[in-house]
Amino acid sequence: MLCQTVKVDTNCLFMKKKGCSFNGGKCYPIVDSCDGCDRIEEYPSGKYCGYCADPGSKWLSGRCNFATHVKKENGVKKDKLNPLKASKRGLSD
Ligand code: SF4
Repeated sequence: MLCQTVKVDTNCLFMKKKGCSFNGGKCYPIVDSCDGCDRIEEYPSGKYCGYCADPGSKWLSGRCNFATHVKKENGVKKDKLNPLKASKRGLSD
């Protein structure tokens, strides 16, 4: 349905016949960490994220996984070490 709160006339999954079903009844504006992200959308009501209704929550445990302006700290993913296999190889501490 089309939003009738902060992103007026934008199609949104949270919008229901009784109103916005998102926590608090509306989307939350971007946070400082979002500055520079390509997913920011401007509305008369302010700046909001096009991917996430609560941008602040995306930064609580590190980098937002949708962010376009911040590179991953390490391009190489570390493989998780299986403790059982590591002990067989003599790699455990
Ligand atoms: S994708 Fe992440 S960093 Fe970008 S505006 Fe949305 S919440 Fe902010």
